[in-house]
Amino acid sequence: MLILSLMEHSAGLLIGGEWRTAPSWSEVRSPWDSAVVGRVGRAGPEQVDAAVRAAEHGFDLVAGLPAAERARLLRRASALVAERRERFAAAIIAESGKPRRHAAAEVDRAVETLRLSSEEAGRLHGETVPLDAAPGSARRRGYFIRVPLGVVGAITPFNFPLNLVCHKVGPALAAGNSIVLKPASATPLTALLLGQVFIEAGLPPGALNIVTGPGPAVGLPLVRDIRVRLITFTGSAAVGETIRTESGLRRTALELGANCGAIVDETADLDAALERCLAGGFAYSGQVCIHTQRLYLHTAIADEFTRRFVERARALACGDPADPATEVGPMINRAAVEAALELVRSAVEAGAELLCGGTAENNLMHPTVLARVGPELPVVCEETFAPVVTVETFKDFDSGLAMFNRGSSAGTRDYGLACGVFTSDLNRAFRATERLAVGNVYVNDSATFRADLAPYGGVRDSGTGREGPRFAVEQMTDIRMVSFNLGD
Ligand code: NDP
Repeated sequence: MLILSLMEHSAGLLIGGEWRTAPSWSEVRSPWDSAVVGRVGRAGPEQVDAAVRAAEHGFDLVAGLPAAERARLLRRASALVAERRERFAAAIIAESGKPRRHAAAEVDRAVETLRLSSEEAGRLHGETVPLDAAPGSARRRGYFIRVPLGVVGAITPFNFPLNLVCHKVGPALAAGNSIVLKPASATPLTALLLGQVFIEAGLPPGALNIVTGPGPAVGLPLVRDIRVRLITFTGSAAVGETIRTESGLRRTALELGANCGAIVDETADLDAALERCLAGGFAYSGQVCIHTQRLYLHTAIADEFTRRFVERARALACGDPADPATEVGPMINRAAVEAALELVRSAVEAGAELLCGGTAENNLMHPTVLARVGPELPVVCEETFAPVVTVETFKDFDSGLAMFNRGSSAGTRDYGLACGVFTSDLNRAFRATERLAVGNVYVNDSATFRADLAPYGGVRDSGTGREGPRFAVEQMTDIRMVSFNLGD
């Protein structure tokens, strides 16, 4: 019951600046040992309605604040999260099963995301427009400004319960919007701790509202509510598709799933590539949208790279996420483990070679590597979201690029999020940046690299729009064109 004691002031739903009781409650359990680590409200349609109403009022208050004040509030929230680093890390470990080192890193990133957002509050600007250059527009002076949208609805996934929430809340407030957040049901406690931080930072009531509960019961009414001007969603392609369908003509920003990977050629620094691919393949048990799921290796280095990769994967410390030594902890629940084991089983039945792993104890799936796979195998062309890495080989660099692209689109989705390219050949690196059909190409990093200030997002079924505070603020504002007719 670790988190319950941390949350004693903040259980319930955050509506209109205060913690309100819910019609019913759900337990949050640790993926590691199933212990109850918290209890959160299950909102119903009435609470969603109340949260949106509160957010409409909150919008008037936030939009009325000078940018300097919005920046100050976000800086204060960033500082409070930093002060409570241990508490946030403990909450992330408890509810998501993320190993301590990754949980602590997530808190540090969230501090940075809020700080970056605070800076964006002071950068909302437009441009002058030379209207008199247009025929018939003489004696006009024009410019455009950026204005907030109003109420933003945010729906977030389980795997980064703090930083991905900050990537929505920070820019929304920086831009002068209010927000209604629905965090993932598996990991809502961290978001509630963040809500408490914003109350203490002095955010006006209704500027940030948090409603917890199941996606269809709480997320969907938020998506369908026409008072919500933008839905910003991070999660699976399937739910993203529902949101796109249900939101009608209103704006959506969708950060969706993928089956990312890395290409390693024979000129690469193999030691560096190995370290980065290993981290990308198994960090948080592969439950990362930019998980390095697929490796494409040049035949000249494939045997040595694969042998060392498998050796290292076998040696990763698996176990209790609270233990600082743990590198691989549990998956989010048993159903996720079963689905991943089934993908591995069916790959082996289809002729793939299991080099290590393919087994699990309770929710802990051991790091798994498969060779002799092809682009049509689900373990390659679908998002596995598990500690499973596939290995394929190529003879020349351009066919490696083509194999990566083929594997992105050969399944039920047409993914395009990120690819890492390890090479010391500059021409090949440039070719990769032009030919890989993804939103993010990382040269000499695996797919699992992200800097929070960069524009980040996918193409095709991996999403629309870009996060990173500067870019999210653009999505969360409208351009308003202004013209002055100076007369004759
Ligand atoms: P889901 O899509 O299952 O859930 C995401 C959120 O949507 C949760 O809050 C969920 O609520 C909610 N939801 C579920 N059904 C509905 C619905 N019908 N209407 C509205 N909201 C709904 O994703 P996961 O939480 O399992 O996260 C994993 C996925 O997220 C992976 O596909 C991963 O790639 C993707 N992701 C993408 C990232 C990116 O930046 N591109 C980053 C991180 C993850 P509830 O929890 O109650 O079900």
